Amino acid sequence: MAGFVWSHWRRHPLMLAGLIVTMLAVAGLDVLFPVVSAYLIDTVAGAGDKPDEAAIEAAFLAVLFLVAQGLGYNLARFAAFRIWLRFATHCMYAIVSEAFARVQRYSADWHSDNFAGATVRKITRGMWAYDLFADTVYVGLFPTAAVLIGVTALLTWQWPLIGLTVTVISALYIAVTALLAKHYVAPVNRAHNEADSAIGAALADAVTCDSAVKAFGAEAREDARLSHVLLSWKERALRAWLRMENLNIIQVLILNVMKFALFALVIWFWIEGKADVGGVTFVLTSYLLISGYLRDVGQHLQHLQKAINELDDVVAFSRLPVGVSDPEGAPDLKPGKGEIAFEDVTFSYRNQAAPLYRRFVLKIAAGEKVALVGPSGSGKSTFVKLLQRLHDIGEGRILIDRQNIALMAQTSVRRAVALVPQEPILFHRSLAENIAYARPGASRREIIEAAKRARAHEFIAKFPQGYETLVGERGIKLSGGERQRVAIARAFLADAPILVLDEATSSLDSITESEVQAAIEELMAGRTTIIIAHRLSTVRAVDRILVFRDGAVVEQGTYKELAGARGSLFHRLHAEQVAGLSGVGG
Ligand code: ADP
Repeated sequence: MAGFVWSHWRRHPLMLAGLIVTMLAVAGLDVLFPVVSAYLIDTVAGAGDKPDEAAIEAAFLAVLFLVAQGLGYNLARFAAFRIWLRFATHCMYAIVSEAFARVQRYSADWHSDNFAGATVRKITRGMWAYDLFADTVYVGLFPTAAVLIGVTALLTWQWPLIGLTVTVISALYIAVTALLAKHYVAPVNRAHNEADSAIGAALADAVTCDSAVKAFGAEAREDARLSHVLLSWKERALRAWLRMENLNIIQVLILNVMKFALFALVIWFWIEGKADVGGVTFVLTSYLLISGYLRDVGQHLQHLQKAINELDDVVAFSRLPVGVSDPEGAPDLKPGKGEIAFEDVTFSYRNQAAPLYRRFVLKIAAGEKVALVGPSGSGKSTFVKLLQRLHDIGEGRILIDRQNIALMAQTSVRRAVALVPQEPILFHRSLAENIAYARPGASRREIIEAAKRARAHEFIAKFPQGYETLVGERGIKLSGGERQRVAIARAFLADAPILVLDEATSSLDSITESEVQAAIEELMAGRTTIIIAHRLSTVRAVDRILVFRDGAVVEQGTYKELAGARGSLFHRLHAEQVAGLSGVGG
């Protein structure tokens, strides 16, 4: 944690030096308060009932000191804060942008394992946890330590026994607070934070799946589910808060012991003639000063603990290696005509006992159109994910235009492959931005051109705001066919040599279907095309059909060859589908 915060702080050495100097000045001026107070009281008390001119002058001077001390203290504090605020915004900016940059680069696996809502919360909470941590250290603990040391030194200089008492009781106070904060409060606090995240995740899960909830009339079920999470939060929150309260009681007890010990000692010294009125004032104001700072120590330590717990996730992000990383200085892939080769590829997902792909070999010529078919779970989508290098393979090589994609910058590999997914994901941004996502900086003319070729221009032009229409979260405001045409427009703009079409399983109405089909045919021209086919009727026109089973290509050939071969897997799949479509197979 300290390492993480330091890695941010040391990026601004000048500001850091300024912060230390100004805060030391703040502490030093605060320590002067008992000194000037004692001086004022001494001057006033020494003058007796009828002060002479010299005494009045001395008293005014003492008041001047007191005012100057107060003013100086505040000026130093303002200066410290002005630097601190600027410093804090720099650090928070860096923390969030770096956490986001890493999270974005985590593997697709990581993202499917983690709730989006929880990740968002972790980052935003981490940002404020840093703020709390830094404030606690700089505005809280640092001046506290400086003032404690200063005041104790002054007390010890005049009355060693009082100095010793302050030292011992302060140390006891801090030790008890720290121990209880760590072992008594922190564990329940952590449980409380987990419950906090669970609420966010549960809410996000239910809200994002709203359509499924509606479809099943499951609102009451979801209510019950959330209330289960909330009840656990309630219990944990109360326990955490009560423990903090208990810690408070113990702290107040120790402070009262200190108060009693100090006042008893100074009164005793007064009786013995070792302390005058000024001395008593000095001890009184010292106690007020110290106890003020000490009272907050408990809170600082609790804040520190809380901040550390909450920063955990962001610190973990900074340590967790990104799933698929580029080799040092990896060059960009130089796309050619889109030739693809899988050479002896062995691959398994993390949680799979046996590899899905074993020494998988496949060549797709530049410009060839292939269709991947096969039962669900046979490894068709995985083929595409490996081609995009969303996962690293165990053994073997995958080549695009004779370049090993494992050695190239992954963003360049993905740019060489344009994907029209089954369920296109759109941002809640304008249609123009969504289309241009495939090529940032595309001109409006290019965007419209792509939309026209994708047969999307017509429906976009019908919206009152045209290309500026916002599409709703994940594109919810568009129909399936419209979303698909936006995805096709993206692929036109991307202009990649390799095209992957993940055929939509849901069928579109026949007019939309033929429009989409026409757009796709235009898109396929001159590109190596891989179609993940769910409806075998659409694969008649491809050059080659690859039939997948259990991560291997078990049959291949043209539609004519495969459909004609009785007893083949393709033949069976085809027969099943025809039966399904005509309603015979149910
Ligand atoms: P298809 O596209 O042919 O339906 P996939 O390539 O999606 O098949 O999946 C092949 C196998 O790998 C399936 O058994 C599936 O459960 C598994 N699988 C797919 N994605 C993951 C993943 N991210 N983590 C673990 N297993 C996965």
